[in-house]
Amino acid sequence: MTLTPVACHKCGAPLDVPNEARFVTCRHCGIQLEVKHNDSATWTEQIEEIQEQTEELVEQVAQLQYQNALEAIDRDWDRERESLLITHKKSGRRTEPNVAAAIFGICAVVVIGLIVAVNVQPGFGVLIVLVGIVAGTFNLAKAKQFETAKRRHRQRKTGLQMNHFRNQAATGKPPSASGPATFESWGKDT
Ligand SMILES: [Zn+2]
Repeated sequence: MTLTPVACHKCGAPLDVPNEARFVTCRHCGIQLEVKHNDSATWTEQIEEIQEQTEELVEQVAQLQYQNALEAIDRDWDRERESLLITHKKSGRRTEPNVAAAIFGICAVVVIGLIVAVNVQPGFGVLIVLVGIVAGTFNLAKAKQFETAKRRHRQRKTGLQMNHFRNQAATGKPPSASGPATFESWGKDT
């Protein structure tokens, strides 16, 4: 068994560490250290630092998962929104169906129909009103469907965000009660 001399990360006391040891306890100050190697050097790090790094990593992964979930929700909504847009016959423009616009359309067509009925021909005016109401009702249904879908999307997103912030609040700065008992092997300090 070869021993490598290292310095304690905390107090600087010289320690002899077996090459295969992953953890060591400082004889001098009693701190528990992880032994790190690379090609040219061996050094020690405080376990707490490793725990902090691990916690940071876990946080980063959670953050990434959260962002991915948010993006997935937005992609779902983009797809659904695209399928619900209305295409304007003349311009070919695609816009969001709108409840107010649909109601305004119905009112406008009824007014036009009544004007035609009074001034031009009653039968033709009534026809305009009927066709207008049927088309308007269809537009209104589409607009309501769109608004429901949009609300559902917003609720999904808000739910995810609330959940995320709740989790963040719950895991933010826990008192580091968990000791090094989770580590499997300890180097000998004799
Ligand atoms: Zn020490």
